[in-house]
Amino acid sequence: MSANQNPTLMIDQLSVSYGHVKAVSQFSLSVQAGEVVALLGPNGAGKTTTLRALSGLLPIQQGRVTLNGVQISGRRPDQIARAGLLQVPEGRQVVAPLTVLENLQLAGLASRRCPAHELNKEIDRIFSLFPNIARRRDVASGLLSGGEQQMLAIGRALIARPVALLLDEPSMGLSPLLTEVIYEFFGRRAEFFGGVAVILAEQSRIALTVADRVCVLSKGRVVFTGLASEVSQSLMVHAYLGVESNGTT
Ligand code: ATP
Repeated sequence: MSANQNPTLMIDQLSVSYGHVKAVSQFSLSVQAGEVVALLGPNGAGKTTTLRALSGLLPIQQGRVTLNGVQISGRRPDQIARAGLLQVPEGRQVVAPLTVLENLQLAGLASRRCPAHELNKEIDRIFSLFPNIARRRDVASGLLSGGEQQMLAIGRALIARPVALLLDEPSMGLSPLLTEVIYEFFGRRAEFFGGVAVILAEQSRIALTVADRVCVLSKGRVVFTGLASEVSQSLMVHAYLGVESNGTT
């Protein structure tokens, strides 16, 4: 992965407001194909707002977002998803009455990015990534555990063959043990995220275990962007306590 390579996902000076309240200010980040960037920050830092704005679910006040060089900011959420930017939202959101298999079929067909004749092969691929949900293929997804629902939600996004994938706090609401299971899966990076530009939002440092780089948000502003190995405990404390920081470690 070369620093000179054109980024798959480029976010330039993104600002998002709720009415008069600015939630995210001048957020810039580039993510290469195959790279995982952790987006860290405390409750209310602006992680979900950023991801929802990238997906077109919130209007952008200022800034520009491109995917493989094509502008996606200002487009509708369905157009952005079809272009290949997919989000796994906080709280999972599977279609509860449908079985695991039906959820995957629906996601594959709805995306239009997975050709119908390859759907079964893609579903087998997702089941091989997540054996836990393969065993539950005929169970209504509303009856799955939180961890299984998270795996299904990720499977639904992967089946649509994302170019860029936004994961919003996949550990939220999961026990430490289940969080570890999910992160063990993510640890198999090439199988899960091979070639995909990934932003992984989390409140905790667990995201650093699989990230190449990290971007730390505090009160809607980026306070650090750098290698995951470079982020220091003191910077995290500053960001999480809301203390001003110049981003040095
Ligand atoms: P969490 O980890 O709790 O999900 P977050 O980092 O994702 O937090 P956001 O949910 O993006 O943070 O919130 C950023 C800011 O925007 C916060 O100050 C929050 O109170 C505010 N905010 C979020 N949603 C709304 C909304 N619908 N209307 C008004 N303000 C909002």
